[in-house]
Amino acid sequence: MWKELAQRILSGYDLTHDDALTILRAPDTEHLQILDAAWTVRRQYFGNLVKANVLSNAKRGLCSEDCHYCGQSQHAQDVSAKHGFLTKEELVRQAKEAQETGGSRFCVTMAVRSASWSAVETLADATKQIKAELGMEVCACMGLMTGDTGKAKLKFLKDAGVDAYNHNLNTHEEIYPQICSTHTYQDRLETLHNAQQAGFSLCSGLIIGMGESDEQIAELALTFRREKVDSIPVNFLIAVEGTKLAQRTKMELRPWKALRYLCLFRLANPSAEIRASAGRELHLRSLQNLALFPANSIFLDGYLTQPGQGAEKDLAMINDLEMEVIAGH
Ligand code: SF4
Repeated sequence: MWKELAQRILSGYDLTHDDALTILRAPDTEHLQILDAAWTVRRQYFGNLVKANVLSNAKRGLCSEDCHYCGQSQHAQDVSAKHGFLTKEELVRQAKEAQETGGSRFCVTMAVRSASWSAVETLADATKQIKAELGMEVCACMGLMTGDTGKAKLKFLKDAGVDAYNHNLNTHEEIYPQICSTHTYQDRLETLHNAQQAGFSLCSGLIIGMGESDEQIAELALTFRREKVDSIPVNFLIAVEGTKLAQRTKMELRPWKALRYLCLFRLANPSAEIRASAGRELHLRSLQNLALFPANSIFLDGYLTQPGQGAEKDLAMINDLEMEVIAGH
């Protein structure tokens, strides 16, 4: 059944909501067959290549928004380090380091509701230099980009050579008000639409483990396909001390269940970059390397505020799998 599903997907079949739930609910005895189906589809589109994305936390902490999972919100109790937006020189230096570490793409993120014009201009200048000197892909994550001002900022970034815009939908629309009160799911969707209209490759993902149901995750997997998202970071909640979701610290997904989610996102979005993102170390544990059978992408060397296992171990894992990192040029 699973082999046949993989072949049908490769022939253009779109996964349905019922299929998605079947993937999540099939018995444990079918773990390996589902993983093999996801690998079959992943291999067809990406071979053994792995995209290694390196994050820059270009403006850390004191964000006005109250996303309940985020340690960078000014509403969180424990924001240890804070700094203003990095300079152009610092961004270029970090991009060089990212490339030397083995990164394929440089992802510049800001803890803001919406980036100011001066931050947009700084990233635009830095991108021009990064492109000229390193030829590296750049992704911007600079908050909400709504209305005419948001559209103008997006156009400015696009004209400077930024390749992709990241804005995560994070969770299902029905429970969005339970994880944030300062903006809406619709604000996030509008940002994605504006970024798409500006010509960006879209990067948008979710965080699993914030109280959503499997039905809602299944719908989200299909939403990303409908919205033509090119790159989908699948995060698993790391409950950060001081945040409203910190009480979920003890929440641990079963590693195989986390893998099922990655398989679902692959089978629902066959040609998209599926990234095994934050929380893979915590929730997949000793099964972590299996994530790269459904996923074809990771964050190299940790996350915005949380450490990962380190670039050396990330690269060793890819090497042991006899997979290959896409060069950042
Ligand atoms: S997730 Fe982004 S918008 Fe929300 S509080 Fe954190 S930095 Fe701000």
